[in-house]
Amino acid sequence: VEHTRWLFGDQLGPYFLDDEDQQVLIVESRRVFRRRRFHRQKAHLILSAMRHRAAELGERCTYLVTDTYREALEQVEEPLSVVQPTTWAAVHFVDTLATEREIERLPARGYVTGRAEFSRWADGRGRRRLLMENFYRDARTRNDVLMKGAEPVEGRWNFDADNREPPPKSGRLDVLEPWWPEEDEIDAQVRADLDQMEADGYEFVGEDGPRTFAASTAEAQAALDHFVEHRLPLFGRYEDAMLTGDRWMAHSLISAPLNLGLLDPLEIVRAAEEAYVAGDAPISAVEGFVRQVMGWRDYIWNLYWYLGEDYRNENALRATTPLPQWFSDLDPSGTQARCLSWAVSSVREVGWAHHIPRLMVIGNYAQQRGWDPQALTDWYHRSFVDGYDWVMVPNVVGMSQYADDGVLGTKPYVGGGAYINRMSDFCGDCVYDPKKRTGDDACPFTVGYWGFLNRNREHLSGNFRMGQVLRNLDRLKDLDQLLAENPEFNAP
Ligand code: FAD
Ligand code: SF4
Repeated sequence: VEHTRWLFGDQLGPYFLDDEDQQVLIVESRRVFRRRRFHRQKAHLILSAMRHRAAELGERCTYLVTDTYREALEQVEEPLSVVQPTTWAAVHFVDTLATEREIERLPARGYVTGRAEFSRWADGRGRRRLLMENFYRDARTRNDVLMKGAEPVEGRWNFDADNREPPPKSGRLDVLEPWWPEEDEIDAQVRADLDQMEADGYEFVGEDGPRTFAASTAEAQAALDHFVEHRLPLFGRYEDAMLTGDRWMAHSLISAPLNLGLLDPLEIVRAAEEAYVAGDAPISAVEGFVRQVMGWRDYIWNLYWYLGEDYRNENALRATTPLPQWFSDLDPSGTQARCLSWAVSSVREVGWAHHIPRLMVIGNYAQQRGWDPQALTDWYHRSFVDGYDWVMVPNVVGMSQYADDGVLGTKPYVGGGAYINRMSDFCGDCVYDPKKRTGDDACPFTVGYWGFLNRNREHLSGNFRMGQVLRNLDRLKDLDQLLAENPEFNAP
């Protein structure tokens, strides 16, 4: 007989099963919500998605609600099969179970490039040579995406240079708004259960609100179709820009359903490619989007495994400052920096912000101030609807905080107020002045930029890409005054 497929909560799409009448086990473990103070809307989304899947599967699905996974598994006697889970901890758990009972372990699904293929590309290159751009080109070639024979269509692999425009002065993008789900009785039940859990002492952060992200494959497909038809053409151009009045801009909002396993990433890529072939979306937009989905996402997924289990603990810049309470609590009134307060509000209100607020506002601020990268990883993980261990560890430890000393990025992602001012409309109404380094209205990002360079001068001097900015630091006339006003940026 075929084994019962035990599905984790992020393995909910059809491609995690092997045939039409396979039996399924889904476990809702309450212990998960005790370990971390998750965003209320994230807890809602995951429970809603799991229960929607169970409803779709009907009698084929055994759905157990228990404190721990182990308690649930004790109630099930059949032999099980499991698609490789998405975290180191869960993989070890399944490995241990497999010494106790019959469990067939299958390779991971839900990524364009598998671990073996990634190793073939990466082995022998050395840790600092694992460049995303090279990986991405290899993946495009292997999967024949946006290719003309052995060459990229239109003769270029990379359209990033076309995708860095500042936001339009009008303060809004001329683009149809995203697809939104409608809540149903499953959501009503999830909300009632979460209210009860709160009454029983479970703690959540962030606001509750109508569900914003897709929770079933049908919904995710509708969201994707809507994006490809109406929003993809504008995706690239303003990809890096931020607008006070429009947190979504032309982003796809696909990360949450994608990371729940509801969509197959290669199908997403093919849908975008078709829009290009049909002449409905420009190459800069389509290439930019494909780069995110089969480039960045797969690269992050694979590095999570390839760099090993201890990678999460790296802390090259020895950053140990604890996160402030207001930040942990998602309280935007904890800062007067308008950009940061806006980004924290977005996380509080919907558990989401696009890539640039994550990287150049929140991550940048944290890195400047030397916040503990492991605590920060945990914060992102619990606060974002699309956050899972595999995706947060490399994005935060590596890309955002440079705690890996330059594996994911060749230099730290730090920037001052000038960058944020150019790429957003935040600074006009801010109490601070993005150009000021000293005085009462000095911009905390500008101060933090120079302060970060000063504090880490010695460590960064080994990085040739930092040479120019360190020379600029040496020429800064008011550095002493900046450090007198902000002594936390003195070198240790
Ligand atoms: P779009 O802008 O429309 O991009 C399309 C898709 O590309 C995304 O849905 C996502 O699946 C993929 N993608 C792009 N960049 C990345 C990346 N660096 N890592 C993984 N996937 C990527 N993304 C997550 O899915 N989960 C996370 O927990 C997460 N944490 C992040 C933390 C930090 C500090 C940073 C800098 C980035 C993080 N990202 C994460 C990547 C990215 O910011 C989000 O995927 C994106 O903002 C989600 O919105 P979207 O679906 O509208 O994306
Ligand atoms: Fe942010 Fe500085 Fe601009 Fe204020 S002035 S919005 S703190 S970058």
